[in-house]
Amino acid sequence: MFIGHFAPAFIAATHPKAPNLAILIIASQLIDFGFFGFALFGIENFRITPGITNMNPLDLYDMPYTHSLVGTLIWAIAFGAIIYVYSKDWVSAFIAAAIVETHWYLDLIVHTKDLSIAGSEPKFGFGLWDYPAIAMPLEFIFIFASIAFYVARTHKKIASKSTALYAMIGILLMFQAIDWFAPKPESADAAFMIMALLSFSIVAVIGWWLGNNRVVDR
Ligand SMILES: [Zn+2]
Repeated sequence: MFIGHFAPAFIAATHPKAPNLAILIIASQLIDFGFFGFALFGIENFRITPGITNMNPLDLYDMPYTHSLVGTLIWAIAFGAIIYVYSKDWVSAFIAAAIVETHWYLDLIVHTKDLSIAGSEPKFGFGLWDYPAIAMPLEFIFIFASIAFYVARTHKKIASKSTALYAMIGILLMFQAIDWFAPKPESADAAFMIMALLSFSIVAVIGWWLGNNRVVDR
């Protein structure tokens, strides 16, 4: 799951008390921000094992702090707390925390058995990365249904164009295409981790632009 992770962010952004779309986008990928950040410092680890799943060679054998159910709850509570400090709004903080939590469940659909409850065995994953004919349309349905929902329940600010919306759709399609079709990384090196962090950040920046260009309908 890559761009599908952003689907809950677009849906939540239609709530009148939701934080900015950019915050929700960061929330939806916070667990992967954490994972690739930790991996850079060797706190969590992965390796490239060609064929481990049909679509994805990432062998995610060591991610107890970010991709365990307990771990994601801690990240969610911490993120919600930060949002509360800034917004003083429990609803806004709860929405942000809930979006952090969606990450584990969306990963569960596609990952092979590498997601834990509290860091060790047993590990879970329904393994749709072995079935591209299901996983690929599913990712598109998630993201485009959620963007359609977002567009239907928000409106443009006066005098603003739809450029931000098109930029968002374009960048999501581009990153997903790279994820699916570009040559797979040969090793779990720092360049790959930084690229991943950079791609999430770019989506968040465009989310900031888009979120500031649209107003939730009342
Ligand atoms: Zn993940």
